[in-house]
Amino acid sequence: MNKKIYGYCILTMLWSFCLVALEPSSNEQKTAALYTSFFKGEKPEIAKLNLFLTQMPKGGDLHHHYSGSIYVETYLEWLEEKQWGIDVKTLKIWPNEVTQSNDSVLTIPDLRKNDILYRKLLTLWSNKDYDNHCHEQVPPDSNFFYSFSYFKEISPLNHALGLAILKERAIKENVSYIETMISNVGVSSKNYYSNLEIEALIASLRSAKTQEAANAIFVEVENKLLKNIDFLAVIDGFTNNLEKNHRGIDDEDFMMRYQTYAVRVNDPLQVFCELLAAYIACENNRNLVGVNIVAPENNNVALQDYTLHMQMYNYLKSKYPDVKRALHAGELTCGMVRPKNLKFHIKEAIDIAGAQRIGHGVDIPYEEDSLATLEKIKNKSVVEINLTSNEFILGVKDQEHPYLIYDAYDVPMVISTDDSGVSRNNLCNEYLLLTSRYKPSYKKIKTYVFNSVKYAFLNEEDKQLLQKRVELKFKDFERDMALFSDKLQK
Ligand SMILES: [Zn+2]
Repeated sequence: MNKKIYGYCILTMLWSFCLVALEPSSNEQKTAALYTSFFKGEKPEIAKLNLFLTQMPKGGDLHHHYSGSIYVETYLEWLEEKQWGIDVKTLKIWPNEVTQSNDSVLTIPDLRKNDILYRKLLTLWSNKDYDNHCHEQVPPDSNFFYSFSYFKEISPLNHALGLAILKERAIKENVSYIETMISNVGVSSKNYYSNLEIEALIASLRSAKTQEAANAIFVEVENKLLKNIDFLAVIDGFTNNLEKNHRGIDDEDFMMRYQTYAVRVNDPLQVFCELLAAYIACENNRNLVGVNIVAPENNNVALQDYTLHMQMYNYLKSKYPDVKRALHAGELTCGMVRPKNLKFHIKEAIDIAGAQRIGHGVDIPYEEDSLATLEKIKNKSVVEINLTSNEFILGVKDQEHPYLIYDAYDVPMVISTDDSGVSRNNLCNEYLLLTSRYKPSYKKIKTYVFNSVKYAFLNEEDKQLLQKRVELKFKDFERDMALFSDKLQK
């Protein structure tokens, strides 16, 4: 063989070798290549992406609210069963038995027959049709938060059934774990203090200038409440009920855990009572894995008391260090509140409250010290991303959403639904929004899924179990997607 031909042969062999090396060989590589192929055109191939994400194991959903996750249609079925009705004028629940419709109250079957009223009710009880046609509208954040007032009488009545529905939905979309914000414990400061005492305590809490000054009041309240039999009995009742409703939920394929919370629009004494009860409840029950603080962050009381709430978390963290802390922080945007309120919520959630998970984190671009805060979140916390919710309530989407900032800083993120019943979404849809908007790599998507295991408030044993389950599910998924990829190439 002359030298030229020999050289040519070697080159050809090397080239073939490179081609084989470049060819995706494992199911994981084939799946990644398939995923990348959806973004080759001018627009993502949404239908294929949707199928892909529907099949994909999604690990856990770590940020969602029980009452907002049940769809309106389900609430109406529960009302029908109780034979309760709907007030025709207000479209609120008529919490009494109605055997026959009359001018002011409709039975649920008659409501369903009245298409105009039925559809109107859907727009009030959820975000349905808010954007796609003109009708008399309140601002979107009000529409969203008002929704909860419509189903508040029925929502707490069927927890066991509601949890079974959430479990069934999760399994159907290949979600192995959910951590549901179930409700607050149900304590009320009015049962432990006179009106005069309440007023005085609220005033001193709001005038406490430092953590130490606030701590002195927290200790006083805590000491009194820990001796109050009624206060402790409410906590016991709450955890016993939770245990009862949880029966039959965990199995070889699925786990559910719960967070309880305080409502940040209440007065600060009530918020402290709720948080204290929440921490004690978590210490007493293994299925109750964390404490949160909920309700609109732009509410006047919530804004006024924000730092005080963080100080409550700080105090309770030192008293109950094993209880995990998540909190809604930075669910705000420009124009919604005064600029000064956009400057410090995430920072204080990390620095003062010691939040192990940040819910939303949308106002980070506006915060002072945002770069230092990003580093801290990266090292100490994780951000729960709720794209549908942020788009509807805050009007923040696409390039305005701080996802790309968190991504650039390698801040850990998890993808969650927030209120899928009110928003009429699901976890798959959240991944669809994320991937079609920002086109993260398959590797990143997988990281978000495994983050939902890593940052779950589970004990180590349960976490390892969940990790193994999700790894196995990915093996099956990638095998299936490799086959799907072969089909698409035919
Ligand atoms: Zn939320």
